[in-house]
Amino acid sequence: MSLIDEIKNLARGKKKLRFMEVCGTHTVSIFRAGIRNILPPNVELVSGPGCPVCVTNDEYIDKAIAYAKIPDVIIATFGDMLKVPGSVETLSEIAADVRVIYSPLDCIKIARENPTKRVIFLAVGFETTAPTAAATILTARDLGVTNLFFLSAQKLVPPALKMLLADSAVKVDGFLLPGHVAVVIGSAAFEFLKIPAVVAGFEAEEILLALVNLLRQIDEGRAEVANEYKSVVKAEGNLAAKKILAQVYETVDADWRGLGVIKNSGLKVREEFSAFDIEKILPLEIKSAKKNTACRCDEVLRGIIAPPECKLFGKNCQPMHAVGPCMISVEGVCATWYKYGGLSIE
Ligand code: SF4
Repeated sequence: MSLIDEIKNLARGKKKLRFMEVCGTHTVSIFRAGIRNILPPNVELVSGPGCPVCVTNDEYIDKAIAYAKIPDVIIATFGDMLKVPGSVETLSEIAADVRVIYSPLDCIKIARENPTKRVIFLAVGFETTAPTAAATILTARDLGVTNLFFLSAQKLVPPALKMLLADSAVKVDGFLLPGHVAVVIGSAAFEFLKIPAVVAGFEAEEILLALVNLLRQIDEGRAEVANEYKSVVKAEGNLAAKKILAQVYETVDADWRGLGVIKNSGLKVREEFSAFDIEKILPLEIKSAKKNTACRCDEVLRGIIAPPECKLFGKNCQPMHAVGPCMISVEGVCATWYKYGGLSIE
């Protein structure tokens, strides 16, 4: 029996079921493979806060812009961050030295080539990229690089899932867990979830396999964390990556766009490495202006609405002139709906 037939069999006669993917790469894979179109009508896939750029709040962008405007500062960032709106402007709109990098380790080269300047890395991302960022700090320390700093807004996925489950507006019957994050922290890190959850790979077949697993759990009245990405994800995760994370970072409360402040959901550079923390070395007080926009990213990021339910979607808000961050990042939910033709909810 094909996986899709198995999905149809398991879903038959069941109430409407909503499964949330919390990884932008899953969102893109699901759309690219057309998976949403072949599911039975009572199985719905919704997207959660799986795009690190999208969950970065205005205040962080405003602070990055304020640092960028200081003379002799070089901002190093992933390209997705350039057009994310702060409360007034974006990094791409200001006159400043802003450089796009592909790995945090690139910052070391920039810092060494510009010894008289301060290089500030905009450290956003989830557990997937945080170990490389941590390794960058250790490498910079070992090489004696003293002009590289981090502006940290790295976030942890499990506390966000816990928060979503506690939100009565969020209706989810199961999670497709992020494969890349699980590679680092391990599938066991999600065992606090008391609803069906499956770590999934990124090929269409792997996603369908995970959906079969979710439906089978529901069919049999189970609620477990299953691992359908065993080729790369272990229950305990990557111990070396976890060790380096624990060495360099401590957890702190973090403010997520759309989700608010979530306890222990952020990573902050430990005191021992505070020489790399720009907010310690050069503190800035930022007062972000209140924005008045009809952007509904906050609801999109919690899976409460699909992008076409936002009245700006595809009209005032498109990738080339985006209103909110969910339309900017290549893994943003609105950008993915737009690119793959999801112009309506049907
Ligand atoms: Fe915000 Fe644009 Fe998405 Fe609407 S379509 S929620 S304005 S990013």
